Amino acid sequence: MGVDDFMALALGQPEHGYYMTRDPFGRAGDFTTAPEISQMFGELLGLWAADVWMKLGRPARFDFIECGPGRGTLMADALRAAKTVPGFVDAAQIILMEISPVLREKQKTALRNYDVQWIDSINHSGIQSSNHPVILLANEFLDALPVQQFLFEGGGWRERTINVRSNGKFDFITSPPRRRGGGAADDCRMPACAGMTEGDIAEVSPLREEFVQDVSTLLISRRGAALFIDYGHEGGMSDTLQAVKNHKFASVLEDIGNADITSHVDFAALRAAAEGVLVYGPVGQGSFLGTLGIRERAQMLNQHRELERLSAPAQMGRLFRVMALCHDVTPEGF
Ligand code: SAH
Repeated sequence: MGVDDFMALALGQPEHGYYMTRDPFGRAGDFTTAPEISQMFGELLGLWAADVWMKLGRPARFDFIECGPGRGTLMADALRAAKTVPGFVDAAQIILMEISPVLREKQKTALRNYDVQWIDSINHSGIQSSNHPVILLANEFLDALPVQQFLFEGGGWRERTINVRSNGKFDFITSPPRRRGGGAADDCRMPACAGMTEGDIAEVSPLREEFVQDVSTLLISRRGAALFIDYGHEGGMSDTLQAVKNHKFASVLEDIGNADITSHVDFAALRAAAEGVLVYGPVGQGSFLGTLGIRERAQMLNQHRELERLSAPAQMGRLFRVMALCHDVTPEGF
């Protein structure tokens, strides 16, 4: 099985998938995300969205979409802050794209005062048939979408795949490259062979690229902006697949379905995938939040530790990056 199919099952298999069966966030869970660290994160993103809305000419209706909304904390904080901009919340049709039934329940509670619609995919018919502008937020969503890996072996690329041994344990092996869906490998998205050395690993994510393409198409037909925040890099090749459990790194091939599995987001690949829209960033999360005023907000709330966690270069300030796709609007923060 390819790493992509493995990730999809480990995270999203309806009965045993990691996200399908639990709320993974916070101290008692496995990891803590930016909106769970401080309300400042969602608030500033809410004000960013309100600014986009004003620049779009304050449309009477727009779709406010969040992908992978977790506990709904970011959206709740965003809406509370954006209430300071008259008309924004009333114009917003809140749409959450979420696969996990457990997390949908949490989101329902966090957003009980709002009218919310849930979708499974960005290609949902309601999204595709509407023509209102779109403002989309996604924090730590892209890292959960599956990647494929290739290993440079014997002078060419082989696909890194997961094998079940006779003792029931899993290990990595390599197989002839395979196209997603099982067809021939001729249009597999593999890097060139020139300059590679034996043992190099390349990671590609056709699903992340497809998602960014779908969002770009949506923005072109409806106007608006999308903001992606994630840990990642801008190209280069390596194995960034990781599992996290109880706030510690864990083995990817052990306790499958009970650890979060992600990989770092290749922003250079996404930038190339975003066709027909303007791309801003990626910039570091620290710089982005700084431009939006996190220092001033932290002062008001007396949240110096949280400010440090979200924006210091040695914490989340540099590894986490922010990229916006825009059509017909110029975003703040870049
Ligand atoms: N944005 C939140 C949660 C990040 S964790 C925060 O910052 O706290 C990833 C989120 O994406 C979870 O809500 C998970 O259930 C959801 N998710 C993962 N894969 C998904 C998919 N293919 N479609 C929709 N949601 C997905």
